Amino acid sequence: MFKKMILISSVFLTSFLQADIMEITDIDDIRPYVAEDALYLFDIDDTLIDNPFSLGSPPWRSWVKSKLPNYNTNFVLYDALTLFIAKNAPYKTVEPSTANLIADLQNQGHAVFAFTARGRSQWYTTDIEGVDRFTQEQLHHVGIDFKNTMIPEELQSLEAAYFCDGIIFAQHIKKGDLLKHLFKDLKYIPSLIIFVDDKLDQVQSVEAAVKEAGIPFIGFWYRRSESDRKNFNPTVANIQLEFLLLQEEIINDDAALELVKTKQSDPSTYFKEILEKIDIERLSPYL
Ligand SMILES: [Mg+2]
Repeated sequence: MFKKMILISSVFLTSFLQADIMEITDIDDIRPYVAEDALYLFDIDDTLIDNPFSLGSPPWRSWVKSKLPNYNTNFVLYDALTLFIAKNAPYKTVEPSTANLIADLQNQGHAVFAFTARGRSQWYTTDIEGVDRFTQEQLHHVGIDFKNTMIPEELQSLEAAYFCDGIIFAQHIKKGDLLKHLFKDLKYIPSLIIFVDDKLDQVQSVEAAVKEAGIPFIGFWYRRSESDRKNFNPTVANIQLEFLLLQEEIINDDAALELVKTKQSDPSTYFKEILEKIDIERLSPYL
């Protein structure tokens, strides 16, 4: 009896959760939920765009954090390295259909914005001008332009510290908290808020904020980029880093995989050996 009750409550809980947050791997799965006067918010990194290389990918970013040696520099090496890679490894849309979806929503007159954890002048913990411009350029490069969104009257006065040309920059504030802050003095009540992000905690944070405001919500936990990167091999990323730093060339995963056999060192040692070969100041984000 007790077991049965647990089963019933967990089924109830699961269906309750599924009602507002859906797990998807195809971006076009949001199309059936398009509604009049809704607000559409799309995370950028690993939702709209990602890079097609192991180097710089989310599994690489998790892997590399504990491998970074201490250098006596005036910049944060993790931030510098990720920015250097982002600037040198051309991004793509996560799916071939991503740019079309955004353009279709814009052409239908919907309020569709990007909603990124990046700051306008902040890359992770590093304060640096032009992250907003660079973000626009990365999106342009793949055929997405949030300047094409018709901004609803009530949102014309969105705070410029966080909003620029159709992109909301959360500056690493939890997205739900920022949304509450931005909307608190606006008389804007969309019929529905649709939010798409590859990070479940961000979807949940926006869900909590939107529900508190009494606005209907559908969140999509979008796991395409994650599923595309199941077979992360740190040696492949190291080979790409070595090519990028020493030969100023980015090679794809297949080409790097061909060379894995030729590398004897374990990935952590190999990574440090690569950094030892360069003048680390070259990576400075302030150059
Ligand atoms: Mg993301």
